[in-house]
Amino acid sequence: MARDYYGILGVSRGASDDEIKRAYRKLARQYHPDVNPDPEAQEKFKEINAAYEVLSDDQKRQIVDLGGDPLAPGGGGAPGGAGPFVGFQDIMDAFFGGAGGGAGRGPRPRTRPGSDAIIRLELDLNETAFGVEAPITVDTAVLCTTCSGAGTAAGTHPATCDACGGRGEVQSVQRTFLGQVMTARPCTVCSGHGSTIPNPCGTCAGDGRVRTRRSLTVKIPAGVEDGMRIRLAQQGEVGPGGGTPGDLYVEIHERPHDVYSRKGDDLHCRVTVPMTAAALGTRLTIKTLDSEEAVEVKAGTQPGSTLRLRARGVPHLRGTGRGDLYVHLDVRTPTKLDGAQEQILRDFAKSRGEEVAELSKQGGFFSRMRDAFNGHG
Ligand code: ZN
Ligand code: ZN
Repeated sequence: MARDYYGILGVSRGASDDEIKRAYRKLARQYHPDVNPDPEAQEKFKEINAAYEVLSDDQKRQIVDLGGDPLAPGGGGAPGGAGPFVGFQDIMDAFFGGAGGGAGRGPRPRTRPGSDAIIRLELDLNETAFGVEAPITVDTAVLCTTCSGAGTAAGTHPATCDACGGRGEVQSVQRTFLGQVMTARPCTVCSGHGSTIPNPCGTCAGDGRVRTRRSLTVKIPAGVEDGMRIRLAQQGEVGPGGGTPGDLYVEIHERPHDVYSRKGDDLHCRVTVPMTAAALGTRLTIKTLDSEEAVEVKAGTQPGSTLRLRARGVPHLRGTGRGDLYVHLDVRTPTKLDGAQEQILRDFAKSRGEEVAELSKQGGFFSRMRDAFNGHG
């Protein structure tokens, strides 16, 4: 037998959506369990919700109007046919944000984990390459040694909060369109801890930690790179109430080197050799990061040539071995020639048939331009 949903809400069969909503609010306010603890009222409240669920839904209301019961088990096309209270908790959750009341949450612990910290460390290339033990100073929070983190003055204890009776939260009655409902929020007197500290520690004012500047030494491994972070576990800030410290991250910043530029574990540098040395060949002494190397510049070396010194770069952070050192050779053309030097070079050029006008024969700039004009690509 179909239930009389219109009768439950006390509205006529022709009631508008607005009238149904108003009737529902009025009744829900009257029978809400938080307002009316009577068990009969609870049953009534469920009934009211079921009626509203049906009559506020066009499809379900139509079933009722046709003499059916959309909430009856197996009847009339209620999705799932799960009985009259299928939507009840959903309605409550939607209105109050979850199963309200704050049951089972309890006071918040006074001791909480500390936060992580990050510090920037500037290092020279020699230090990032070969590692270093670097002294650092951090402004941080450490455990209060006076109270060992408890936050209380010697010989005193926290007291149960009067405002919330130790629950850490206070309940208040709110007016909503469903009527008056109870909500719980953290107690402002004790910040949700459920207890207060009547006699705070004089050193930390009850926080259980004090701010201070700390010095420590961080071991930087060989091969670190700009931007890398080294994690020092539990060297960050101590938490409130003496909670477990967070981690400290040391971020590496490598100062630019005036000779070497770094690409990964390879190093690059430029060396200028006179034109004559490039032509005749020579030996150079190259200062590497940690040694000196004699290298041979072959006769006939061209500008822009590169010498590669294997394993003279930065040691690899993981595994063994090192990057390479690349020496880029610039060839310098002499600029201030005295009369005798100029004559020597002219004679030299003549002996090789290298007068300026004939450079095009060598397949250089002039010949390429000529080819372009003749359409040879
Ligand atoms: Zn409280
Ligand atoms: Zn203290």
